[in-house]
Amino acid sequence: MVHFVGAGPGAADLITVRGAELLKNAEVIIYAGSLVNKELLSYADEKCGIYNSASMTLEEVIAVMTENRDRNVVRLHTGDPAVYGAIREQMDRLNELGIKYEVCPGVSSMFGAAAAVNAEYTLPGVSQSVIITRLAGRTPVPEKESMESLASHGASMVIFLSAGMTGELSEKLIKGGYSADTPAAIVYKATWQDEKTVITTVGGLEKAARENGITKTALILVGGFLGNQYERSKLYDPMFSHGFRKAAE
Ligand code: SAH
Repeated sequence: MVHFVGAGPGAADLITVRGAELLKNAEVIIYAGSLVNKELLSYADEKCGIYNSASMTLEEVIAVMTENRDRNVVRLHTGDPAVYGAIREQMDRLNELGIKYEVCPGVSSMFGAAAAVNAEYTLPGVSQSVIITRLAGRTPVPEKESMESLASHGASMVIFLSAGMTGELSEKLIKGGYSADTPAAIVYKATWQDEKTVITTVGGLEKAARENGITKTALILVGGFLGNQYERSKLYDPMFSHGFRKAAE
């Protein structure tokens, strides 16, 4: 059995209780070495076989899973495995090989980053939607999902894998409709000990990244949710009734 486990955004105690239990019981762990906190490996038994997938191909990862098909294998991915985790291709190979698997979710860095800047993505009166995207790099992004067209919604945006391209990002966000003074944040290594947060604007992204020496392992957050204008929630409004509470008379 293979368990795809979300390691959480960085801090070792942000793995789920289930994820930690799976690590303790693992006989083999294949972890994404470039971003997973190595402290998590201390959960593992001394006899556990440990592989760093940073230098492995998909074929090599699947070969380790196949050799250990009768053991407890944990495939440890950063954040939540469903976001830029490349798990689908692994699951499809495992289907072909008749190897069972399960996914244990994790805390994505997008939530680690929101926590780092005390932000709420879905702020009433500002935005009720979150767009998770990236700039095209060596992995292309479908034409219909260009940064300009996604920016045109004015929704809250979380931009992965693009910290080294803040100039291009800023230009495209503005072309898409955000004003240059729209609030933005760069969150480097959210929840790690060396976390760094930079509050800036869409127009100031490139300068802010350069001045702080940030080129990778960062998320760019964009939108009015980082500003100070919003409406209070209906849910906790004394004049608003719902299933669990009656409005004040
Ligand atoms: N599955 C992961 C994302 C993997 S893609 C998740 O749910 O978070 C790798 C990208 O995620 C990095 O390039 C960076 O943009 C972002 N990232 C991962 N961990 C991060 C962290 N602790 N702080 C900021 N960004 C992070």
